[in-house]
Amino acid sequence: MSTFTPLPDAAHPGQAAATLPTPTLLLDAAPFERNLQRLQAAAQRHGVAVRPHAKAHKCPAVALAQVRAGAVGICVQKASEAWPFLEAGVRSVHVSNQLAGALQAGWLARWAREGRGVQLSVCVDDVRQVATLAEAAAREGLAGDQRLGVFVEIDIGQGRCGVPGADRDASAVRRLIDAIAAAPGLRWAGLQAYHGGVQHVRDAAERRASARAAADRAGSVVAALQAAGLSPAVVTGSGTGSVGFDLASGVYTEVQPGSYAFMDRDYADNEAGGDSGGAEDLRFEHALFLFSTVISTATPGQLVLDCGLKTLSAESGPPQPWPPRAGWGPVRLNDEHGVVALAADAAPPVLGEVVRLIPGHCDPTLNLHDRLVVLRDGRVVDLWPIAARGHSW
Ligand code: PLP
Ligand code: MN
Repeated sequence: MSTFTPLPDAAHPGQAAATLPTPTLLLDAAPFERNLQRLQAAAQRHGVAVRPHAKAHKCPAVALAQVRAGAVGICVQKASEAWPFLEAGVRSVHVSNQLAGALQAGWLARWAREGRGVQLSVCVDDVRQVATLAEAAAREGLAGDQRLGVFVEIDIGQGRCGVPGADRDASAVRRLIDAIAAAPGLRWAGLQAYHGGVQHVRDAAERRASARAAADRAGSVVAALQAAGLSPAVVTGSGTGSVGFDLASGVYTEVQPGSYAFMDRDYADNEAGGDSGGAEDLRFEHALFLFSTVISTATPGQLVLDCGLKTLSAESGPPQPWPPRAGWGPVRLNDEHGVVALAADAAPPVLGEVVRLIPGHCDPTLNLHDRLVVLRDGRVVDLWPIAARGHSW
């Protein structure tokens, strides 16, 4: 028995958006669904598979909507992150990353054994990682369709993970493929080639050229492997900023954008265009919003919102009021305050007004919230738990 009345559920289906407590993270269902369809339709035109990155949302209900729209499965970035999605019924999960060690490999191998017809895969760029995976797979007795898929990651210019310089000399990639082939519980699934640096190149023509150069590096590795009789079944990579170009590249057989479903401010800052030779700069609509309230107008020339670093991430720049407000400076985020300087000609701030914001960067913002409030026509239709929050190993 508690002394104080516990909090009621602050949002419920049927509720009007205007009556929600703030700050609240909302998904607008109509633009979200259009974003999924837009990517799927473009991918279909090019005969390329879509495997959205679920690190963007960590939300099984979002992943299931992506699969219903035609995605072949999802990517995650960590082994433990896979669990809520598997449990929710996603049948194909790719860990687009290197694992930290035997603990993570052990869980993936265990889930591969437990899931009937479930496909799990992971990346490597070192034979020691192959050995760790092989051991985990052997311990679970994985064979046939249960085997862990292993992608050799190649670095195509980002300088993060992946075998470097494979476009000039693919022998290290071949050694990894040989090691994977020698392990009974593993199967060589293909290549991963992702270039994060291309995604936010602002100038559209420059972004297209960078995406082309990165895809060409991946294409050279594919050609070298083919010449050695090793044709990768899947070449996976790409992100929201380059996906239109990558779909038309002729190199990728699968794309893995994440932010496209939500469109944060950082991606909206990319210049639109750069279309050329069948490659289209795919643009997406804003579907993710943080509702916040003006809680102070006491200091002349500014207003203060009830959102801060605990509800919005700031490392990719500030959130954007939507629609944009004339005379408002950037929203400067403290822990629990968002401070906006007002120009002399700005409309007077209204205490208690609800302000809709586009997050600066969707992935870390979603990771700050327990659930997404789903809106359709201004009313709550669903509450979607962000179940993989904290699944970080
Ligand atoms: N694939 C990998 C391996 C990534 O690390 C990322 C993002 O960091 C993505 C795909 C694409 O994500 P987004 O489209 O949200 O930029
Ligand atoms: Mn991101």
